[in-house]
Amino acid sequence: MLSTRTVISADSAGVIFIRYLIRFATGDVMCCGGDERGEFVHNDCIFCKIAAKEIPVKIIYEDDHVLAFPDINPMAPVHILVIPKQHFDSLLTVKPEEMPIVAQVMAALPAVAEKAGVTGEGFRIVVNTGGNGGQTVNHLHWHLLGGRIMSWPPG
Ligand code: 5GP
Ligand code: ZN
Repeated sequence: MLSTRTVISADSAGVIFIRYLIRFATGDVMCCGGDERGEFVHNDCIFCKIAAKEIPVKIIYEDDHVLAFPDINPMAPVHILVIPKQHFDSLLTVKPEEMPIVAQVMAALPAVAEKAGVTGEGFRIVVNTGGNGGQTVNHLHWHLLGGRIMSWPPG
């Protein structure tokens, strides 16, 4: 016969398992390699791996919540990606209570531009969102483009 303690433990395990299932169903799963930040990240997301330092990049700027590094396929002499370390698929999936993270990324942009040396000449910030927006990596990110005159309207 099960003791009370055993029953409580089984219930706890059940709750934890259900929580895990909810996280799995909503796309949030604990990263197995680099979750020392204690945040939910996606195992197969390239930018999560960069944020977790599993893939090395040249760091242009970093704070507790934000990382900036050069784009692997630059579209301008200066092309830097600025990401929240926490995973969001896109701007569309940021919950209202998570918007301070977006504000932190945007607050870091002047410092990133300063480090990239483009504050004098000017630069462009782009957030491609979804298919028509040209988003190819489903981890929210800001492009900082500079070092040349940007055309308008954009392509
Ligand atoms: P998006 O097309 O989603 O707006 O932007 C994704 C950007 O990520 C692209 O400009 C692409 O060149 C860049 N990118 C994709 N994979 C990597 C990578 O592994 N490292 C770096 N540094 N940039 C990447
Ligand atoms: Zn990610």
